[in-house]
Amino acid sequence: MISRETIAAALTDLGEPAYRWRQVYEALTRGLVTDFSEVTTVRAALAERLRPLSLEVVETRAAPGGAARKTLFRTADGEPVEAVLMTYTTRATVCVSTQVGCAVRCAFCASGRLGLRRDLTAEEIVDQVLHFARELRQSGRRVTNVVFMGMGEPFYNYGETLRACRMLNDGDGFGLAARSISVSTVGVVPGMDRFSGEPEQFNLAVSLHAATDALRDKLVPLNRTYPLDELFAASARYVRRTHRKLMFEYVVLRGVNDTDEQVQMLAARVRPPHYHLNLIAYNETGGDFRRPRATDLDALRARLESVGVSCTVRSSPGGEIEAACGQLALEHGSSLRGVSPAE
Ligand code: SAH
Repeated sequence: MISRETIAAALTDLGEPAYRWRQVYEALTRGLVTDFSEVTTVRAALAERLRPLSLEVVETRAAPGGAARKTLFRTADGEPVEAVLMTYTTRATVCVSTQVGCAVRCAFCASGRLGLRRDLTAEEIVDQVLHFARELRQSGRRVTNVVFMGMGEPFYNYGETLRACRMLNDGDGFGLAARSISVSTVGVVPGMDRFSGEPEQFNLAVSLHAATDALRDKLVPLNRTYPLDELFAASARYVRRTHRKLMFEYVVLRGVNDTDEQVQMLAARVRPPHYHLNLIAYNETGGDFRRPRATDLDALRARLESVGVSCTVRSSPGGEIEAACGQLALEHGSSLRGVSPAE
């Protein structure tokens, strides 16, 4: 992916009128070209200057039944990046990474184990989506939703995350509706406040995972910086400023955060109509936490609904393909390092 500004600058350098950026930009974001030799209106000189692809595919894994596909990419400097495509009857959702690794180190999450290696650029984030758009096009389908729920904490890479949202949303380019784009944060309060002031109607999700500070301190270390009272104050400000709903993600860890105490505290904090809770079955990543059974999840949903929490069990089809945040990159992290893309 290349931004319009970069294309215009290269055209100017070549002595071409800058307004021709549109043809190149449309070829990238609508024609989904990977090579400028496919763009007849553009001089070969452009091909020497700009590289349309910032990521190279290393490996793809498909879940049995084909509902989820996970691709591991490699950046030009050899870093692992992973993204997941989930296809449903009418929707096709791409889950993108915003950083290589993560600095937050949630107790159950594989991404933190890599540590933070670097931020991704907006181009590297958008390229994850364009890759799956090319795949889907072969069966006549399109990307209908993008969620920023892969590796990394989007609000610790705020500028590039927002730039990626805007590139995806750009009506002159990929043209995905703002309401079809969702950013998920672990609860970085200053990022939430900043996001609530953006003019577009992008969705916000907050990874909650516990409703008492005692438990959330253990699962999400950042809770010690932004405890639940502050997180919910920021959530209320978000709703007040944007008049939008807020989603809370809740990765269910069997026997840990599905207790009566958590249910009671969720009932006190996660009130409809503005707050909604998504229950996600934990994908086991080799630690001590256990995935709940489908019947446990349904029972938890019923308990939560009986105390007035609006909630949904989200399917997590990725269990068989190490689709949990950071898993595939973790597996490859050491082997990819130090390998240049040319090798
Ligand atoms: N840092 C952001 C976005 C990346 S994580 C955030 O925390 O929201 C996206 C979601 O995947 C989070 O809700 C995270 O808790 C969840 N997740 C991480 N590891 C998981 C696992 N092993 N199984 C299921 N969900 C997981």
